[in-house]
Amino acid sequence: MTSALTLPTNGQLASSWLETPPGSQPLPGELDHLLALRVPGLIATRRHLHSHPELSGTEFETAALIARELSLAGLNPRLLPKGNGVICDVNGRPDGPVVALRADIDALPLDDPKDVPYRSTVAGVCHACGHDVHTSILLGVGMLLAQLADLGELDGRVRLIFQPAEEILPCGSLEVIEAGGLDDVVQIFALHCDPNLPVGQVGLRVARSPPPPTTSPSDSPGRVDTPPART
Ligand SMILES: [Zn+2]
Repeated sequence: MTSALTLPTNGQLASSWLETPPGSQPLPGELDHLLALRVPGLIATRRHLHSHPELSGTEFETAALIARELSLAGLNPRLLPKGNGVICDVNGRPDGPVVALRADIDALPLDDPKDVPYRSTVAGVCHACGHDVHTSILLGVGMLLAQLADLGELDGRVRLIFQPAEEILPCGSLEVIEAGGLDDVVQIFALHCDPNLPVGQVGLRVARSPPPPTTSPSDSPGRVDTPPART
């Protein structure tokens, strides 16, 4: 069990994030500017999660941190019944569709061989699959969407799903579904780090139904079926 996850309140990282990175198109509205303001905090969050990983099914401190950060952003997160995952709606204009965004939050039973200040503090447990990144990205998206909603610029409702236990079977997605996480959802988007793609490129894969199960409960980056959409 890790110690309580509390983000540092000082020593903020200096951000070298450019509001519009070279080669990219500006995001609509004030999103580039709002994102640049959030980047140092999100990097700190990711590194904090990386140093305090929790195994599948035991993501209690991770979920508590997520709920705390979403509450600070003015949202109303709810924990899954076991307390190891989070569902949170961002409400825009009321009559739009519900679109879900999902991140997995669990770590793997591996040692962390890196020599960095934020290496895992838990022996034999490591965010080797990037779920700390996924969690931080979805937190940042939720914070920006909350700001858009406050400005009256969010159509419909966006559901943030922080799913536990992605690395084991039965998977934590069942707990999300049983908790109503997919109720009224018309589309769902998930993301995964892919070390085969250069930094700054995003690959997309579209499916109408879930991919077939793999022989291993541990996932893999998978194949990118379409060319990177944005550089
Ligand atoms: Zn993964």
